[in-house]
Amino acid sequence: MEDCLFCKIINKQIKSEFVYEDDDLVCIKDIHPQAPIHLLIISKKHISTVLDISEEDEKLIGKIVRIATKISKQFNIDESGFRLIFNCKKDGGQTIYHIHLHLIGGKRLKWTQ
Ligand code: 5GP
Ligand code: ZN
Repeated sequence: MEDCLFCKIINKQIKSEFVYEDDDLVCIKDIHPQAPIHLLIISKKHISTVLDISEEDEKLIGKIVRIATKISKQFNIDESGFRLIFNCKKDGGQTIYHIHLHLIGGKRLKWTQ
């Protein structure tokens, strides 16, 4: 996807520090953290929104969640807990149309609307 920021980060056209990388995913620190720990686990495959996940992506989505929990241990927030969020479209607050899982923790989070 030519104009996708996350595709550019994945393809290293835009420099970004990877907290984690494998064949399917990368993890980066969010540029505007909402909590002491705010990471984004991004699929290398360009999928615009969670509405575009197909049956063939099921394993990938499971992996995104599993790797998020692995990274939570790396950042020592597995004991205290954390939140995992996929925003979807306008009302969900999605700003980048390339699926990514937010991993947020390091403080007691309030529930939002
Ligand atoms: P969304 O709002 O689509 O669920 O999440 C997009 C996230 O990407 C936001 O939390 C935003 O702060 C983050 N973000 C936007 N641009 C960049 C960037 O260039 N680098 C990084 N690391 N994060 C970004
Ligand atoms: Zn993309």
